[in-house]
Amino acid sequence: MQRLEYASPTEIEQHQVGRLRNLLNFLQQESVNAFYQEKLAGINPANLQSLADLPSLPLTLKAELVSQQSHYPPYGQNLSYAPECYTKLHQTSGTTGHPLKILDTAESWDWWARCWVEVFRAAGVTEKDRVFVAFSFGLFIGFWTAYEGAGKLGALVIPGGGMDTPQRLAAIFDHEATVICSTPSYALHMAEVAEQKKLDLASSKVRVLIHAGEPGASIPPVRRRIEEVWGATVHDHAGATEIGAYGFSCAAQVGLHVNESEFIVEVLERGSDQPVPPGEPGELVVTNLGRWGFPVIRYRTGDMVRLAKEPCTCGRTYKLLQGGVIGRVDNMVIVRGINIFPSAIEAIIREIIPQNEFRLIFSRVKGLDELEIEVEVAQDELDKLETLMALFRQRLALRVPVRAVEPGAFPRFQLKARRILDRRTSLA
Ligand SMILES: [Zn+2]
Repeated sequence: MQRLEYASPTEIEQHQVGRLRNLLNFLQQESVNAFYQEKLAGINPANLQSLADLPSLPLTLKAELVSQQSHYPPYGQNLSYAPECYTKLHQTSGTTGHPLKILDTAESWDWWARCWVEVFRAAGVTEKDRVFVAFSFGLFIGFWTAYEGAGKLGALVIPGGGMDTPQRLAAIFDHEATVICSTPSYALHMAEVAEQKKLDLASSKVRVLIHAGEPGASIPPVRRRIEEVWGATVHDHAGATEIGAYGFSCAAQVGLHVNESEFIVEVLERGSDQPVPPGEPGELVVTNLGRWGFPVIRYRTGDMVRLAKEPCTCGRTYKLLQGGVIGRVDNMVIVRGINIFPSAIEAIIREIIPQNEFRLIFSRVKGLDELEIEVEVAQDELDKLETLMALFRQRLALRVPVRAVEPGAFPRFQLKARRILDRRTSLA
């Protein structure tokens, strides 16, 4: 894998355009990939001279991949090789319904692992580390690829599947794990359980936590809380089953860099194909360059991001998504004209009540989005609700009802936390 993280943006672009042309030429060969052959009909890869020519390529929607699989079950036609060439099967988590089944060849799987090596490297993880993967190792790709990447890096990797939280904590101490891969919610849950069991996480050997699956690690109060209880540094990572492991955080901890040697990203207006300028929120669109067995070209991720206006202080030239993934396209609410992302609300809740669970309830009244918040608080902490409401007004100009519920009322999550109850009948 060619490393371009400190190359000039022009060099990165040349590399990306060259690799994209190779991919397009490959996909247009006869009987290679029926799905992209049809989508790319009439497109001449030689006309792709720079990234400014990207809009000449069609966008790929998740709904297309889903409909492919229902028309050509079970795997659809976005397969570039014969089925027997594939060695790995995974499935999306199905948070938005219709799980996608995705196959990888040995070569694509190796590419995933190499992308994860970059994530580990940026977090300062080396072959001397012991990486504990707090993950259930099922059909969801989740941290399978972190497991592979840690092995490729030369670290000792400890699978944390088939264990409950006390067993995982015991394993972390027993094996003297130095790195944890988990969702940020689960890192907080482990901290809660450790406290009940009188285990001092800060006295463990853990020095780095790498989080994915939710935005928490790029939300400063969430990150600080995890760093405090674990006595370790927190890093963010973003990836998706359909796309690959595309983002990582650096020492500056201000968001996610995109691994531009393997991915091309664009940020488009929500619901349109117009690009948005740096600093403005838009939908992340990704093209992967090294997963030829199951490629995606200009894939609308449904994730809302903001490109940083200034280069990162770490010196990398790779694009920076300021504040990481800031929300999902379909979970932004517009309450009385204000765009609200759940991550902004979480940041405020975590400042006041770091460890308690909460739930956001979206509803629609007379065609307008409404939001209510329920927070777990003990009887002697009820005054914190007032503080929360005041902060929502101050920081987000948002007046919303905040209700108390019994501590422990909401579920704890090992994978993606589901803290939103969406009662709107259609999307805004
Ligand atoms: Zn950086």
